[in-house]
Amino acid sequence: CGIVGYVGARPALGIVLDGLRRLEYRGYDSAGVAIVCGDELRTEKRAGKLANLEKALGDERFSAADRGAGSAPGIGDGTTGIGHTRWATHGGPTDRNAHPHVSADGRVAVIHNGIIENFAKLRAEIEADGVEFVSDTDTECVAHLLSAALADLRASGEPEGPQLLAAAMRRVCQRLEGAFTLLAVDAALPDAVVGARRNSPLVVGRGVGENYLASDVSAFIEHTREAVELGQDQVVLITADGIEISDFAGQPATGRDFHIDWDA
Ligand code: GLU
Repeated sequence: CGIVGYVGARPALGIVLDGLRRLEYRGYDSAGVAIVCGDELRTEKRAGKLANLEKALGDERFSAADRGAGSAPGIGDGTTGIGHTRWATHGGPTDRNAHPHVSADGRVAVIHNGIIENFAKLRAEIEADGVEFVSDTDTECVAHLLSAALADLRASGEPEGPQLLAAAMRRVCQRLEGAFTLLAVDAALPDAVVGARRNSPLVVGRGVGENYLASDVSAFIEHTREAVELGQDQVVLITADGIEISDFAGQPATGRDFHIDWDA
């Protein structure tokens, strides 16, 4: 239902949680976050209100600096992250079905708005390869497909770097039917968030040394008013200093730049 992503120099978790709070008016039944910390992926997700998620995160939702001398860095310190509020369509509103959904190796996390119409077929195919599903959502298949695409690209000698994430996402999107806004992170690519959209909105917020992705500009309006609206069937890769848009086939593409001039 609500989607937020951040990459920059500041701790991502607080920014992502604030963004989700700005999207609460849309209604939701669960919430979750995935933050890349060093070369590890940390996730937390809960059915219910954002307050439940914040309770589960506890003190760790603050950066080590804010928690005081001697605190060890944790989920509150990573500077790349994604967050989601869910309005369940496939699978009940439980902790398990909340987003993000994570690949079997725990390295790739995905959040999704919309419905993957051909998920049953994709799920059967992935299960036949021996992957065990842990949720009832249509979304989880995307985490497994993306992880497999990344492994494939790496095995074929593609150079390591944020571009891998965009290439893998393009590959996966070509297999999906339905409506989706997707964001994903890979623990091995700690400075990038990839997004994709079809029949569901996605906007980029352009910052200075940081960039945002969201389903709605209200998620990042307190940080920047320079935005880019993605077109149909586009993939966007954000890093701290870059925004790169392509179509699902990999051709460079452009979104619609605009300035947000209404009051937040
Ligand atoms: N179809 C997905 C699910 O049920 C996404 C729902 C949403 O848009 O929040 O988990």
